[in-house]
Amino acid sequence: MASESDKIKKRDLLDRDIRYLKGVGPKKQALFKRIGVKTVKDLLFLAPRRYEDRTKIVSISDVIPGEFVTIKGRITLRGRRRLYGKEGFGIIVDDGTGWIEVVFFVKNMQKLFRIGDEIIISGKVEFDKYYNKPIFVHPEYAIIGKNSDDEIIAGMVIPVYPQTEGLDSRFIRKLIYELLKEDIHLTDYVPEVIRKKERLYPLHEAISKMHFPDSVLEGERARKVIAFNELFQFFYKINIKKEDIKRAYPFKQKGELSLDFIKKLPFSLTLGQKKVIEEIDKDLEKSVPMQRLLQGDVGSGKTVIAIYTMLRAVENGMQAAFMAPTETLADQVFLVLSNFISGLPLKMELLKSSTRSAKRRQILGYLSNGDIDILVGTHALLTENVNFYKLGLIVIDEQHKFGVLQRYNLWKKGDEFTPHLLLMTATPIPRSLALTLYGNLELSLLTEKPPGRGKIETVVKVEKNRDEVYRWVFKKVENGEKAYIVVPFIEESDFTKKQGMKDLYNMYEYLNKMKSDGVRIGLLHGRMKPLEKRSVMEKFRDGEFNVLLSTTVIEVGIDVKDATLMVIEHADRFGLAQLHQLRGRVGRGKKKSFCILIMSENTSQEGMKRIKALKMYDSGFDLAEFDLKMRGPGEILGTKQHGFSGFRVFHFYKDQDIIEKVRDYVKLVQNGKLPLSQEEKNKLISLREKLKEAYYVA
Ligand code: ADP
Ligand code: MG
Repeated sequence: MASESDKIKKRDLLDRDIRYLKGVGPKKQALFKRIGVKTVKDLLFLAPRRYEDRTKIVSISDVIPGEFVTIKGRITLRGRRRLYGKEGFGIIVDDGTGWIEVVFFVKNMQKLFRIGDEIIISGKVEFDKYYNKPIFVHPEYAIIGKNSDDEIIAGMVIPVYPQTEGLDSRFIRKLIYELLKEDIHLTDYVPEVIRKKERLYPLHEAISKMHFPDSVLEGERARKVIAFNELFQFFYKINIKKEDIKRAYPFKQKGELSLDFIKKLPFSLTLGQKKVIEEIDKDLEKSVPMQRLLQGDVGSGKTVIAIYTMLRAVENGMQAAFMAPTETLADQVFLVLSNFISGLPLKMELLKSSTRSAKRRQILGYLSNGDIDILVGTHALLTENVNFYKLGLIVIDEQHKFGVLQRYNLWKKGDEFTPHLLLMTATPIPRSLALTLYGNLELSLLTEKPPGRGKIETVVKVEKNRDEVYRWVFKKVENGEKAYIVVPFIEESDFTKKQGMKDLYNMYEYLNKMKSDGVRIGLLHGRMKPLEKRSVMEKFRDGEFNVLLSTTVIEVGIDVKDATLMVIEHADRFGLAQLHQLRGRVGRGKKKSFCILIMSENTSQEGMKRIKALKMYDSGFDLAEFDLKMRGPGEILGTKQHGFSGFRVFHFYKDQDIIEKVRDYVKLVQNGKLPLSQEEKNKLISLREKLKEAYYVA
């Protein structure tokens, strides 16, 4: 029993705040937070950026300023020393080939060094201009046979950690060194068969080798083993187990509904759309449920494809569900769908959280007896009492806004059959990343836009040109164009005041002062009731308003064909994907459009980079690739939905080589193709349980 409570204590230790460790106070705690280390476990999993090999000892006579070297010799002199105007002390180290001076500035340190001691010094060689010779300033050192802890510092292979001012690698290494002396329990989820085959260290060993390797190679291998471990857990969590997927109902029948729909479209499909439809048709014929992700830039024409696919379900006697992440978007889609299918013999309903209970009851009734063919909605579709009669297809728009488990919960609503699944996103992610995250999905791409779209010119302006920008915009509006103006905040706050940022209301005042009578401004923001939002949107579409001043609620899905101007205030504060989405609201008709980015004169470097990228690239795919390089995958995807926060060591670029391998191993495990011990099986079950906790919160 004692061992049980011991275990709990150890688990405790890992979850403890980093402050629990000796030598870490509030100041260091804050510094650690900057490099993503909050708990003891975070520290253990802190991956070195690189390794320095200090096992190679260089002769002092060969030392060259500017290089990073390790030397070994005896202390022959010691004394006070002034350097760079600072008071310190120096020692002279001699190895027989020559001598070099080593200077330190820390008080009380002097007594550590005694003449005759043998010492190892590692560090960058500086150049002492005054005496015209090489010199070490505050290098790392180890006095041989003296202080054993110091030997983890010099003369070895040394990991270099991400650094921030005030937190050096030496300190971090000492903390980890002490920590590894404790009896720490880490769960290794990778089954032994795989570990043997891939020659992976057990997790615990990998951790210790990552921090204290015997060679650079060993350190790098250890890091990769940990990345393997993390990826394994990740794929295990996101892949849906085979047992949970039943047969799908194969859509054999190609009927009037879908054929007619295509025939009656007011435009012809692009080649890209045709190709995607072919891919989808092939999937739908199978009794294995489709799991396809359709990636297409804003305005690339995904909705048409979604409708076609839903009609294929209906003509095969099945129901279809369309889930969108916001009420506004669900409204919008419902409206578009209603237009497209008007006159077709089918029944469609809209279900949202705000749907009144009488109406809701009616919808749920019709749904469960099969009288509704297509149900459009928001998260409301996930509710337990939403029961379909025969759900054959699910379309999820802006799928990355939903958690893995939410998607899964909708998917489970198929009764006898598992529904076919079409996921869509207008935030394209690079293929490499898609493969990582959605290893279980087939990918379809829409890379071209429908023909007849006007060009969008992206223009960058600074704040002092604001008046000029709006005079120009209003002139165009008076001549019959429509404009969106986007601001990041609804109301003034201490924050907006301090940052000198515009909010919806003071912007409204400002614009009203400038405008002429021909300019009619509508207001739209996230705190409005859905009905109000809809009415404003309709008025903008119909021309009652010709300027829509809004927060980013218009980011997704809104389609007003004759809007040609998009002004984004404080554009340097928005993320790339968001800016691109906003820009995609214009350029939907034949006329040339403009996207005007207004930014602060003294914007951050990052902000500047984003603005430049936006000006340079039109395509969401190019921007996504750029974004990935700039920020890494976690940021792009939003960690909550993807459990990406679980990655401490896995590095998107360094570990490309193992992504597919790990994914395939997980599939083998999940399909029962590898021999596992009972203990291993239990561990994996507990991993799934964790997933549930993590995702039900959202
Ligand atoms: P998104 O991919 O952003 O969902 P939509 O499906 O909303 O894009 O399409 C944007 C607009 O382009 C819609 O008004 C739609 O009717 C129109 N559209 C779609 N396909 C074509 C096409 N092949 N030719 C011309 N217009 C098209
Ligand atoms: Mg869309």
